[in-house]
Amino acid sequence: MKPYWIICLWTGITLVYTPLYAQENKRPIIVLDPGHGGVDSGAIGVNGIMEKDIVLEVAMEAIRLNRELFGNRLDIYLTRYRDTLISLNDRTRLVKVLKPDVFISIHCNQAERKAAQGIEVYVQQPKSNTNSYLRSRSKTLAEVILSEFDQALGFKIRGMKYSNFQVLRETQNICPGVLLELGFLSNWEEAEHSWRKESVRGYGMVILQGIMAKENY
Ligand SMILES: [Zn+2]
Repeated sequence: MKPYWIICLWTGITLVYTPLYAQENKRPIIVLDPGHGGVDSGAIGVNGIMEKDIVLEVAMEAIRLNRELFGNRLDIYLTRYRDTLISLNDRTRLVKVLKPDVFISIHCNQAERKAAQGIEVYVQQPKSNTNSYLRSRSKTLAEVILSEFDQALGFKIRGMKYSNFQVLRETQNICPGVLLELGFLSNWEEAEHSWRKESVRGYGMVILQGIMAKENY
């Protein structure tokens, strides 16, 4: 039988080093959720561009930038990788299974008023059962992303808003989460902007910068 102190020492070392080791090797898990897909095109731009296509391109671009510029620092999963319709239940189910560090749903806006422009970031309207720590981290994430859009891309900022979107409501107590509305496809200037490859790259970059800002994971 091993002496008691060896067992104590071994247990102590294991308890101290296992979490440290696990932490060092664990990349933050991120779920990006490109909205719509398949028969659900989402908003259709004044120039014919479709929301479902832009949001998928932005999410794929985030994966590419993470790989090529950031050495795969983040472990990114998408709720869809192709032009297919995924139910809202399946999107939230993925978050419940993966328990990521951050969840971001990506959409584009539209409005009757053709002049409406700018970026909106939504967080879940708090309820009595809302985890206040995660809620505060969601708000920080929203604010960082908005300031990146403002400073890096010079977008008009419409601000952080509260909503009751299913994908945020059902994941609010799992991880920090926000829903992005990347400009108005009903506005000529922003719809034309969204066609461009460099715009998609800019969106992808802002999302990554927002996630990687120190306090967000
Ligand atoms: Zn949408």
